[in-house]
Amino acid sequence: MLQELLNESMDTLRTAIEANTASLKSRETGTLLQVGGGIALVKGLPGVTSEALLEFPGGVLGVAINLEPDHVGVMLLDDSDQLTAGAEVMLTGRETDAPVGAGLIGRVIDATGRVLDRGKALHSGERRPIERDAPAIIDRAPVSIPLETGIKAIDALIPIGRGQRELIVGDRQTGKTSLAVDTIINQRDRNMVCIYCAVGQRGTAVARVVDTLRKNEAMAHTIVVVASDEDPPGLRFITPYAATTMAEFFMEKGQDVLIVFDDLTRHARAYRELSLLLRRPPGREAYPGDIFYIHSRLLERATRLSSDRGGGSLTALPIIETQAQDISAYIPTNLISITDGQIYVSPTLFHKGLLPAIDVGKSVSRVGGKTQYAAFRSVASDLRLSYSQFEELETFARFATRLDDETRATIEHGRRVREVLKQSEHRPLRASEQMVILKTVNARLLDDIVLDQISDAEAAIQQRVLNELPELCERMEAGDKLDDSQWQQVLDVVKKELSQLKPDSQER
Ligand code: ATP
Ligand code: MG
Repeated sequence: MLQELLNESMDTLRTAIEANTASLKSRETGTLLQVGGGIALVKGLPGVTSEALLEFPGGVLGVAINLEPDHVGVMLLDDSDQLTAGAEVMLTGRETDAPVGAGLIGRVIDATGRVLDRGKALHSGERRPIERDAPAIIDRAPVSIPLETGIKAIDALIPIGRGQRELIVGDRQTGKTSLAVDTIINQRDRNMVCIYCAVGQRGTAVARVVDTLRKNEAMAHTIVVVASDEDPPGLRFITPYAATTMAEFFMEKGQDVLIVFDDLTRHARAYRELSLLLRRPPGREAYPGDIFYIHSRLLERATRLSSDRGGGSLTALPIIETQAQDISAYIPTNLISITDGQIYVSPTLFHKGLLPAIDVGKSVSRVGGKTQYAAFRSVASDLRLSYSQFEELETFARFATRLDDETRATIEHGRRVREVLKQSEHRPLRASEQMVILKTVNARLLDDIVLDQISDAEAAIQQRVLNELPELCERMEAGDKLDDSQWQQVLDVVKKELSQLKPDSQER
């Protein structure tokens, strides 16, 4: 009897011990060999796989990216000041993942879900891996619905579609971030989730963007995901992938999502830093050979899904900073070839005060044109060509002392078009407001108004048309094409408004 009882308890003990050793085995550990510059080398961990998440003492996380026969190269996601060689490193058994869910909207967080906005910690909700396969071709639908930026020069001349990838490229301080932020502001009340992903910027610059979004009531539909210039290169590197995972959550639910990567130059530099520290062979401009692949696998995840998959979309606006306007440098050319077009902002135009400083001649949208509303297309169709002809003519006219009347008229008209394409920051315009002013300038109704009166005239015209012809404005918003008599109605209202302005303008 006693023997039986003893045997029984021995059995229980044995199973308990076995169960414990099994759980110990899954928590495999290794030893930290070396740490510095955001990189750690770890010995041991025979069960480690690429992208596996490791935990260091003090809760510091790292991602295994280099698997060598005698050690593992790890990029750290936290500060490594407290780590010393010899420390124990644990395999967490998880892949690197990011939080997802509607609870993220309105928050400022980092890639792993840590809160940066002094708000409450996130509920420990669902998490998904940051590296996911891009949707297969069969699951994709053509880009066919416009994404309205509210910026006249873009919506009229370089239209963007939902699910498109459009690069914003230009030198430093040329208004790149402003274009992206204004596009996010314009998505207010349009049922679009926006993600602003800041990589490698100064904390103050990110704070300014968050402040602008708050002031313009845009945080209610926006998530800000940040890795600042002080964060380790590993965190800067994974942030765009994590932000895309957060965006895919909404896209897969059938929603439209916009993601801004500000900017991928700094993302590429973070990856170069990691690669050089891991002694991977450097290639052109010291970037590693797979730099093209890291950006293409990121941007391939932006798409429009077919109706079978819910019909959601993910539009990406990656930003790239050029040096001395060199768009043929390595990273800009890579990204130009990956994306469906680029918006080029020029420092020359910026310094002339032609804001937003979009160089229409160097910008292109390869798929967005097809998505432009018919009404818009009829207004904007020949604007691009006539505008570039004007720019050419204006350059030559500088050398000529006498111009014939026709040339002079073309130049004066072009100057008005350029004036109309100017737009101040954080003032996105509705489609109807844009169409009315473009139609007005196309009908040459502004040709005898002095240049510095045009922006006032524009606001007055837009307001008056909205007041007097609200149904027509609604039809324009809906993308319906107006017939000639309806446009005539609009232009009659415009003329009435201008006749009140003109005496004033002629006085000057
Ligand atoms: P960086 O290289 O520092 O990231 P950037 O190219 O993102 O710069 P922004 O920060 O967007 O440029 O803009 C630079 C400055 O130009 C800002 O002070 C901004 O307020 C101003 N600016 C940008 N667009 C306009 C505009 N349309 N009207 C007036 N000011 C503008
Ligand atoms: Mg910027």
